Amino acid sequence: MPLLFDRSALMDKGVWHDAIVRLAVRFREATRLVFLTGAGISTESGIPDFRSTTGLYKTTSEELFSIDSFLADPSRFYSTFATFYSYVLDSPANLGHQAISALERECHKSVEVVTQNIDMLHTVAGSSTVWEIHGSLRRATCMRCGKSYDQDDFKCDMLSGRAPTCGCGGVLKPDVVFYGEGLPEREYAGAQRAMWNAEALFIVGTSLAVYPAAGLPRECPADAPFVVLNLTPTPLDVQATLVYREVLCNTLPFGVAALIESERSGIPLEELPFDHESLTPIIDEWIKFSKPRKL
Ligand SMILES: [Zn+2]
Repeated sequence: MPLLFDRSALMDKGVWHDAIVRLAVRFREATRLVFLTGAGISTESGIPDFRSTTGLYKTTSEELFSIDSFLADPSRFYSTFATFYSYVLDSPANLGHQAISALERECHKSVEVVTQNIDMLHTVAGSSTVWEIHGSLRRATCMRCGKSYDQDDFKCDMLSGRAPTCGCGGVLKPDVVFYGEGLPEREYAGAQRAMWNAEALFIVGTSLAVYPAAGLPRECPADAPFVVLNLTPTPLDVQATLVYREVLCNTLPFGVAALIESERSGIPLEELPFDHESLTPIIDEWIKFSKPRKL
């Protein structure tokens, strides 16, 4: 059975310290780390998710995101999607995204991110290897002639709720995976390879409800430990070594910061004294590594 830390347990300073040390040890003990992330990491940046009680599907129909309904009436999709798109363009990478990139940059780990998110925030935070298995809003493709466009070419249309068009008169479709479409082959193959080579897997901000993403953890080597960081239970909790059922900003950044502090001070993690306040200066440094939003 996993060791589970929920919000009420983590209110206790001693329990929180123990929980953070255990997380940091998991980071320290592996060289090749894989993060599988979902909407929960981006909601902390202010981006609405799709499936939660306050998600997009409560106000719009899931059918809007099917390829058939897009092809039947692209303008209906674009007029509804404009609000979500404006959230994406306005939202900065948060401490969760920054923590994952800091592990790579400051702890010299090999980190691969497999994300179901289309908001590009892992790249904004500086992560170098990101497999976007549901695509991203970075590019769009003409449905008639297949010409590919950069977001600078269609951003204004999308923000104002208009369907962007190609020189040939065809309508552009963002390079994100709609219901009824297959996953991008190169990205999914990259995600699978990352899983095969993982020494530890961190499942972050996803309840693993959507296949095939939810099946990816099964591709990891049998001896690779799982850690789950998600507000709600997931089907993989029972197989995990550690489960953190808490907002990410109270766990993930502090786990990374504790490892950095241990490496800088030479004090082993297990003996390192720290609290929220003492680790905050390390976390505050990460913001300067975020890239400008324009990609
Ligand atoms: Zn075209």
